[in-house]
Amino acid sequence: MTSTPRKRTVIANWKMNPATLAEAKALFLGIKKEASRRSRVETAIAAPFVYLPELQKLIAGSRMRLAAQDVFWEKEGTYTGEVSVAQLASVGVSHVIVGHSERRALGENDEQVAQKVAAVQKGGLTVVLCIGESERDTTGRYLNVIETQLRSALANVPKTALENLRIAYEPVWAISHGDGKGHTATAGDVHEMTIFIRKVLTSLYTRPSAERVRILYGGSVNEGNASVLIEEGNVDGFLVGGVSLKPRAFAAILTAANESA
Ligand code: PEP
Repeated sequence: MTSTPRKRTVIANWKMNPATLAEAKALFLGIKKEASRRSRVETAIAAPFVYLPELQKLIAGSRMRLAAQDVFWEKEGTYTGEVSVAQLASVGVSHVIVGHSERRALGENDEQVAQKVAAVQKGGLTVVLCIGESERDTTGRYLNVIETQLRSALANVPKTALENLRIAYEPVWAISHGDGKGHTATAGDVHEMTIFIRKVLTSLYTRPSAERVRILYGGSVNEGNASVLIEEGNVDGFLVGGVSLKPRAFAAILTAANESA
């Protein structure tokens, strides 16, 4: 029996960019035009919270998705500075990045990541769960790091919710300083990791369920390496930081994903 091919997903993580709403709208429209020509790719823009309501107005008539870069797990209350799942949903957000290494570097721990994952799933949105080791050792300890992050984050996620889960493997050492030109993982590294992640998912759920989860790669993806990473890395798409601020280069990444589908 052959399984249904997994759809491609490419998520633009704008981080704390661009500087103004006017620039954000222009960038969004540029990417929207490119995304409309690559119909086999689910394209989502993870913009800063403050831009999301205005970007929602520009999304009409496209297949683009809006994503948030973070969320809080409580429904409402005295949590200064936090944003809930329902608030994100009310401005058209469908995907939420959880556990990004830049949030973890600011103190977010596995337990908080698990609470966020559970809250997003209960709210019916799609989780983009970021996992990744800080360094590669030669003894395979980095695999333990990945397994621990996965088991902890998915502890309260039932099999029925896996449809709304994307896993972004983002080795911390591969994330760029904003230009997409860091030390990227090799396609071989990425392929090895997709096999490992599916093995852990199989042990948590079942093999057919594990096979259906989309696994993305993030870490210095750019127009020059996207094709080889997706073809030989065996991933279902990308989470892109620095290059997602450059519509033409980002379009080349969308093309690589579209052509591999
Ligand atoms: C990221 O931070 O999610 C990321 C993948 O960044 P970059 O593409 O710039 O390495």
